Amino acid sequence: MVIVVERRRDGKLHPVGGRLRGVEWNRAVNLAHQLHCRDGLSYRKTAAAMLENLGIRRSVGQVFADIASFTCDYCRQDAADG
Ligand SMILES: [Zn+2]
Repeated sequence: MVIVVERRRDGKLHPVGGRLRGVEWNRAVNLAHQLHCRDGLSYRKTAAAMLENLGIRRSVGQVFADIASFTCDYCRQDAADG
């Protein structure tokens, strides 16, 4: 398992977690939508799977915010079905 880390001002390596930017953030958000919307995982399981698969540590609240940040194809289908 690989944890995505960065070196911060304190000189230590930290998991990027809530400080994702650009491509990394896009990747995390897209994966969150795949896991939650397509595969039907709970927010908690989505966060756990992201850590396992991408090494990206996201809290449940962050996953919730990620998924709320845009509407993927699966979200849109759900909305249309509902
Ligand atoms: Zn979605």
